[in-house]
Formats: sequence, C-alpha cells, structure tokens
Amino acid sequence: MSPKIPVTVLGATGVVGQRFVRRLADHPWFIVQHLAASERSEGKRYRDACAWRLDGEPYGGLGDHILGPGTPEQSFSPVVFSALDTDPAKEAEPAFAKAGALVFSNASAFRMAETVPLLVPEVNADHLGLLEAQRRHHGWKGGIVTNPNCTSTVLVMALAPLQAAFGIEAVFMTSMQAVSGAGYPGVPSLDILGNVIPYIRNEEEKVEEETPKLLGFYAQDHIDLAPMTVSALCHRVPVLEGHTEAVSVRLKGNPSPEAVRAAMAAWRGEPQRLGLPTAPPVPIHIHDLPDRPQVRKDVEGDGGMSVHVGRIRVCPLLGIKFSLLGHNTERGAAGASILNAELAHAKGFV
Ligand code: NAP
Repeated sequence: MSPKIPVTVLGATGVVGQRFVRRLADHPWFIVQHLAASERSEGKRYRDACAWRLDGEPYGGLGDHILGPGTPEQSFSPVVFSALDTDPAKEAEPAFAKAGALVFSNASAFRMAETVPLLVPEVNADHLGLLEAQRRHHGWKGGIVTNPNCTSTVLVMALAPLQAAFGIEAVFMTSMQAVSGAGYPGVPSLDILGNVIPYIRNEEEKVEEETPKLLGFYAQDHIDLAPMTVSALCHRVPVLEGHTEAVSVRLKGNPSPEAVRAAMAAWRGEPQRLGLPTAPPVPIHIHDLPDRPQVRKDVEGDGGMSVHVGRIRVCPLLGIKFSLLGHNTERGAAGASILNAELAHAKGFV
C-alpha cells in the first residue's frame, strides 16, 4: 500500500474546516500534516481554538495538534484543503499554489478565474484539465481547484443529467438555505428563529454566474459557458444543515416528467465509475412520496454526498419543476473538496 499523502487544512477551526478534519481522520489516501486558521488561533491547541460542533471523535482525534501559521513556508503539504473566507483566501491560496501545492478551495475568490477549474466531479470532471493552462499561465507547479457555492453545487447535480439528455434553456430556482451556510457563529438566533430572511449577500449572483460555467464546455485554456438563463432567489431559513431548492426548468424538446425522472435516476459520473472513496454510490436519489425530500429525513444519507429530488411534475411556466435537497457543508463544501482531490489524484495531478 502506498503511503498516505500529507495535507494541510486552512481554516480548520470553522464550520467547513471541522468537517474536513473529521473526514480526513480516516481517509484512505490523505493524512493531516498541518492545521491552520487565523492569527487569533495560531500557536493554540486545536481543542482550545475550535468550538467543535460535530459528532464522532472530538477534534477528529487531533485535539492536541498545534495550529500553525497559514503560510507555505511553515505549513506546506502537497495537498491543501482551504476553508478560508474569501479575503484571506486571495492571498494564501496562490502562495501555496506557487510553492507547489495543489489547493482545493471552498472560497469564492478564484471560482470564476478563466483557468481555475470550478469542479463537481460527477458534472464536469474534464474541467480539471484547465490545471495545465493555469500552471503554464502562472508558472506554478501547484494550482488551485475550486468547488462552487453550496447552492450551485446542489443545483447542478440535478441539472447535469438534464443538460446531457435534453439540453437546458432556462432555470428558475428558489432556495431555502440552512444557517450553517453562513459559517460559525453565523446568523444570530434572534434573527433566524421563527423567521425566513429573503436575502443572502451575493448568493443569487453566485448561483447565476457559476451554473453556466459548471455546465459549460472544456476548451483547453478556458470554459465556454453553457448558453442558458439562470434566475435565483435565495432565502435563509431556520434549518441547521441542508439546502432545499424549488427548481423549474425549460428543457429542449419539452420532455415528460417520466423522461426527466428516468434521466436523473440513471445518471452516474466519473467518481462512481472510478470508485472514488468519497463518491456516493448513487448521486441523485429520486423520492416518490409526495412530501419528500425533507431535511430531517434525507439530508444525512450517504454522508451527505448525494442529492435528493422529489415531486417531478409539469410546470405551467417553464415545462418541468421539482424539489431538490442537498447537504451544504458536505456535498456543498468539505466532502466536495475532498472528492475533487480524489479525482485529481486518480487523474495523476497530485
Ligand atoms: P467559518 O465557520 O466562519 O470559518 C472561517 C475560518 O477561516 C476559520 O477557521 C477562521 O479561523 C479562518 N479565518 C478567518 N479569518 C482569517 C484570516 N484573516 N486568516 C486566516 N484564517 C482566517 O466559515 P465556513 O462556513 O467554514 O466557510 C469557510 C469558507 O467556505 C468560506 O469561504 C465560505 O464561503 C465557504 N463555503 C462555506 C459553505 C458552508 O455551507 N458553510 C459552503 C460552501 C463554501 P479562526 O477560528 O481563527 O477565526
């Protein structure tokens, strides 16, 4: 058996960072070498700097690990998982890439950069090829690979089989998003309990611009955007984990709900074909009960890595509509980045 690949987790104390640490504790290919967060946490034991919120072994068994500075000089590993906020990511991620690390980022800082893969391995595994152009362009040995905003990730998981089978002309999506999507401590309880907030800063813009790139076409040194109209309305709701999305789509050829259901149910991607460790066996679970999917009943299945679709029916406005659910901090964040790294490793980029 080959030795495990050492990794650094940046932003290790946050909502997403903790999920990285828990997933990496027993990962078959990767092992944590460095943990880092902000200067506030530097030099502290992980257990003292981090308000651990997850079940399983506390602190992923790394409670006594000392948090290092988030710089490549002191915390270099060949693979870096970044759960940094956008501003610190702008500086730290290119520094690690320049030093030769392959950075798998959750931050929005570089998602739309021309040669940066915005990756969901089931949806657009070929976009990873952009790394070659990125390395040439910057003269880097390493690189940056991003995963999308959590709402976009869940959405494109359901759209990809429809794009492949029919072609998509327009998407109208209304989200009901969990509070964990805002990080820790996030939205104050006095604002969100018993309430719905119809505004999440920059969220609608991210979904509208990321979706055509995610479903776009790899062209060696850039992505040709998929020609479709996307309209998003995003809401914060008092749910802990799991984004629910109400989706209407206009598809070419106006297929029936049965044809849409069949396309989604049969869909498998590169992670399933390669048997990647974090890949869910079935990427989309179709629910036939009229009151599913539901956050409390469905979102934690498959470690949060599959998405759930129900109520596929005719939409009088656009043709087809359905309900969609996915785990924002697993499929939409930590699990997504780790799956990206597994794909990159399987394709020889690590
Ligand atoms: P979070 O809970 O607020 O955690 C932020 C992390 O960044 C903490 O570890 C914090 O360390 C560190 N940090 C803050 N300022 C820093 C600085 N100046 N330099 C270095 N480190 C700094 O946020 P989160 O929800 O985990 O989100 C992390 C990233 O993932 C964000 O870019 C977010 O947009 C993205 N994302 C989140 C989700 C989600 O559902 N939550 C989904 C997709 C993507 P300290 O503890 O030391 O302050």
